[in-house]
Formats: sequence, C-alpha cells, structure tokens
Amino acid sequence: MNPKLSNRVNQMATSATLAMAAKARELREQGKDIIGLSLGEPDFTVPDFVKNAAIQAVQDDYHSYTPVDGYGDLKQAIITKFQRDNELTYNPAQIVVSTGAKQSLANLAQVLLNPGDEVLLPAPYWVSYSDISKVAGGVPVEIPTSIESDFKVTPEALEASITEKTKMMIYSSPCNPSGSVYSKEELRALADVLVKYPDIIVVSDEIYEHINFTGPHVSMAGFDDMYDRTVTVNGVSKAFSMTGWRIGYIGAPEYIARACNKMQGQVTSGANCIAQRATIAALETSPSAIQYMIDAFRERRTLILGLLKEIPGFKTNEPEGAFYVFPDISHYFGKTLRGKTIINASDFALYLLEEANVATVTGQAFGDPNCIRISYAASEEDIKQAISRIREALA
Ligand code: PMP
Ligand code: GLU
Repeated sequence: MNPKLSNRVNQMATSATLAMAAKARELREQGKDIIGLSLGEPDFTVPDFVKNAAIQAVQDDYHSYTPVDGYGDLKQAIITKFQRDNELTYNPAQIVVSTGAKQSLANLAQVLLNPGDEVLLPAPYWVSYSDISKVAGGVPVEIPTSIESDFKVTPEALEASITEKTKMMIYSSPCNPSGSVYSKEELRALADVLVKYPDIIVVSDEIYEHINFTGPHVSMAGFDDMYDRTVTVNGVSKAFSMTGWRIGYIGAPEYIARACNKMQGQVTSGANCIAQRATIAALETSPSAIQYMIDAFRERRTLILGLLKEIPGFKTNEPEGAFYVFPDISHYFGKTLRGKTIINASDFALYLLEEANVATVTGQAFGDPNCIRISYAASEEDIKQAISRIREALA
C-alpha cells in the first residue's frame, strides 16, 4: 500500500501469472536453472506466413495510426473467421480489434460495469477476470466448482449465484486454468438459465478455441436466444503463438462494440499496425495450418498427465483443451517439507520454485486455493525435467 497512489491500484492484485514469470526470470538472471511452467505462452515460433505478412507490411510503409477499432480489411477477415469457424454472423460495426484479448476484456468491464455490479466467475477462472472487473467498480462473484465435475459449473450453481445486481458472466472454454471444455449440451443448459435473466451479458472468452482435444468448439453466441447478449472474445496469442504481437478482438452487440471503440479511442487508440496486417494473414489461413501445434500440445498433455500420476498427493482431472493442468495438491497442506510448512497453494508453488527450481502458479489467483496451475506449453525435455524435479522435492 502506498498512500501516494490511488485506492484503485492499491487494491489491485498483481497478475499472478506475470509475477511468477518475472520472478523466474529474475532467478535465472541470478544464475539459477529455473524451468518456467508458469506462463501460458506457446513455445513455437510464429508461422512463416504470418511473419512474411508482417515483413511485407513494414516494406509497404504501414506506419500510421490505425482506425481505433481496427483496419477494415482485418475486421472483414475476423467476420469471415467467425463465420467459417463458429457459424457466427457479425457486421463490421460489431467488431473491435484491441491490443490483446486482455484489452478486449478490460474494455468490456469498463463499458458495462457500474460500481456494485456483480460479475459471475465460474471458478477456477482466468487470473485477470477478477481484477479487470474490480478496477471497473464491479464485484466478482465466484461460483465454485470441483474437480469431480471437471471444474464445470452446473446450471443449478449458476442460478443460485444470480442476484438483482448480476450484470455479467465471464468464462473461458477451453478453460484457463482447468483445461475443461464445455459441450454443446452443457452450454445449452447454462443458456437455459441465462435466458431467464435478459439483463445479464455473457462474455465468452474463446482464445483457446483451436487448442481443443475433444472438439467441437461451441460458442455461446451460436444459440439464437443468446446472440444479442453475448460478447465473443478471441485473439491470435495462443493459436498462432503471437503473444507478444498483442492482437485480440471481439464480436459483440453493436452498442457494446461502439462503446468499446469509444473507450479505446481515449485510452490506447488502434492496435499496432504491423501486427494487424499480420493478423489478416493468420486469420485468412485455414486452421489446418496450425494443426502441428495442437498435435504437439496433445502429446505433451499425455506426457505430463502420465508423469504427474507418479507423484503421490496430486489429484488431476483430464484437461480437454488449452495447455494447462490444474492438480489439486491440498494433500500437502499442513505438512512440513525441508523445514518449510505448507499452509496453502501459494506456499506450495513457492516451495516448488525454491526447492525444485520449477515455476508454476498458485490456484489462489484463479479462485481455487487447493490447486496449482502447470503450463505444458514447454518442450518435452523441460516437462520431463520439471516433473522429475518436483517429484524429488516432494519425496
Ligand atoms: N483470456 C485467457 C483465458 C487467457 O489465457 C489470456 C492469456 N493470454 C488472455 C485472455 C489474454 O490474451 P492476450 O491479451 O494475449 O490476447
Ligand atoms: N494468459 C497467459 C497465462 O494465463 C499469459 C499471462 C497473462 O497474460 O496473464 O499465463
């Protein structure tokens, strides 16, 4: 707490994923051999067809401010992508391109929430949903799930969490951090509850759409009775390994898209021009061009699940998408390991960092204090090494 700073930032938590990645970087600089399984970041390089489009854009002298909501031809490529992959129909006034899906989400919170509005977050949820909501004056309302129900929220639990103040629900499928993927029937059952409360806006974060090992991907906006109140969030960070290029986008009801455009126009302006040109190439290409990455993630998932089974006290579900496992490690709470008492998941993650030199993220940050998140967006060699170190540190 620093009284010179605003209450807004004093009350905000630091992003746990980015904080752990920074800590791992710092320890590496001090000469420690840290294996980073904390950040959800594909380790592949950007596909050549995307790189070439960026190089071409530089050579073609793209340099100016872009339209706040994105280039017209990029918006067209997004519209075509939504139609091709999700059977969702949007017009250009419904699309806003932003500096990463994180900014898309921050825009939505800023334009939709008034102080005291409640935001439903089926837990575990992606780390930033909570603070993005809070900084806009919203009140996060966690809906607990369990590993037994594959970390998916039930219609009954959803309905029980709705109050007169509920304004929004945010969820991701495939889910970061649990890897759970909602089937069409499961999403329809949630929609059946939501249609009774027409003022609730649903934010469907589909950034892991392509990293789905069960398929098919289902969009909430695909249900006719949900289309007018659902915002579909997506981006190129995960599917095209473009995390640092910072392009995300939404398909939304027009009044929401216009509001995001207005908000963004005062805060950041349009997203980076070169990255926007490259994103056109990414989205215009068939998803089959990135199948090699999905296949690699599937193999790594099999590898890590097999290795984790050998560690006593780890209870893990089978993630169906994204690139995370989210084991329940509460077996270790209250135990003293090498003189350190483990009270909670944060202690446990810190213990793994210090004693196994492996960076993971505490489940606390994702709304589940019994778990830790391990990203397997890493090489097979690193995964094997890391799990073997964890096993030894816990033996
Ligand atoms: N949503 C989820 C579920 C994520 O895991 C991430 C992490 N990158 C984001 C949104 C934000 O993605 P970006 O800002 O890189 O587009
Ligand atoms: N979304 C990734 C993660 O969950 C990247 C880090 C971040 O943006 O928080 O690790």
